[in-house]
Amino acid sequence: MRAMILEKAGQLLRQAELPKPEPGPGRILIRVRACAVCRTDLHVVDGELTQPKLPLVPGHEIVGTVAEKGAGAERFEIGDRVGIPWLGWTCGECSYCLWGRENLCDQARFTGYTIDGGYADYTVADQRFCFPIPDFYHDAAAAPLLCAGLIGYRSLVKAGDGKRLGIYGFGAAAHIVAQVARYQNREIYAFTRPGDDEAAKFAVELGAVWAGGSNELPPTKLDAAIIFAPVGELVPQALRAVGKGGIVVCGGIHMSDIPRFPYEILWEERSICSVANLTRRDGEEFLTLAPRVPVRTDVHTFPLEEANEALDRLRSGKIQGAAVLVTKATKPSD
Ligand SMILES: [Zn+2]
Ligand SMILES: [Zn+2]
Repeated sequence: MRAMILEKAGQLLRQAELPKPEPGPGRILIRVRACAVCRTDLHVVDGELTQPKLPLVPGHEIVGTVAEKGAGAERFEIGDRVGIPWLGWTCGECSYCLWGRENLCDQARFTGYTIDGGYADYTVADQRFCFPIPDFYHDAAAAPLLCAGLIGYRSLVKAGDGKRLGIYGFGAAAHIVAQVARYQNREIYAFTRPGDDEAAKFAVELGAVWAGGSNELPPTKLDAAIIFAPVGELVPQALRAVGKGGIVVCGGIHMSDIPRFPYEILWEERSICSVANLTRRDGEEFLTLAPRVPVRTDVHTFPLEEANEALDRLRSGKIQGAAVLVTKATKPSD
C-alpha cells in the first residue's frame, strides 16, 4: 500500500510502499477513503509534539470502509463506513478512564502520533474507538468532523452556555463550531489574523455577527472565547474580551508561551482552561448532532501523495475550511 511517512521531525514526509497491516484481535483493517489534515499533524511533523512513534504514518481524521476484521471484531461488517479519531486506545482501568474522562488516560494511544494513522491506503484501528459515519456526508466532507469537529465540539461544551462567543483562529475547527453555535442561537465574534480579510469574510459567511483582527476588542463583552490558533499572546487578549465570569478555552494541543498578564484581567471569576483529546462520548454526541444542524464542511482535497503540499498550505494559513487527503488520485478542488 502507499503511505506517506514521517521518519524524523522537521523533514518532509516520504512516500513509501508498505505492507498492508494485519488487524489483530479486536481490530479492523480499514481501506482509507479520506483523511483530513489537522494542525496537530503539523505540530507532529514540525517536532513541537515530541513523542511520536517513528517512522510514523500521520493522520487522525480518517474515513474509510472496513476491509478485514481481526479475531473477535464483530462490531462492524465488511464494507461498513467508519471514522477513526485521534483517541486510538485507552487502558479502561485508570481513574480517568473509570470516571468518564478517558481523554486524560495516562496510557492513552493516539492515532497518527503513537500509532500509525491515515495518510495511507490502509490503516488498522481498535474497533471500540471507531465511529459509524452519518450517511449525510460523503467521505471527504466527513473527515474533518473527526477532529476539527470533535475537538471543536468539546471546546464549545467547555465554553458553557453563554450567548456571545468569541472564536480566535478561523480554520477547520472554527468553521464547524460556528455552525453549531449558530444552531444553538449564539452570537459569534470572529477574530482572525490582522489583515486577513479572506478569513474575516469567511467568518461572516458562516454567520459571525462581527469579525475583526485578533488584536482588536469586540464591540461588546463576550461570555466565552475559544482559542484555536496556537498563539499564546491570544490568551490575555481573549481575557480582555470576555466579561465577568467569562471563560477562555484553549482548544489546541500546542500553544506558544502565554505572556505575563496583570491579575486584573483574570479577576472577577474569569477562567482559562484547555481541552485535551476527546472521549468516545464526545464523538457519539457530535456525530449525532452534526447532520441535524446540519454542519457543512468546506473541504479542499489533495491526492495522498501531496500531503506535504497540504501541510504547507495549512502552515501558511492558505486554507479556508479543511484540507483533506483522498486516496484516489484527483486534482485539488481549489
Ligand atoms: Zn486509562
Ligand atoms: Zn486533530
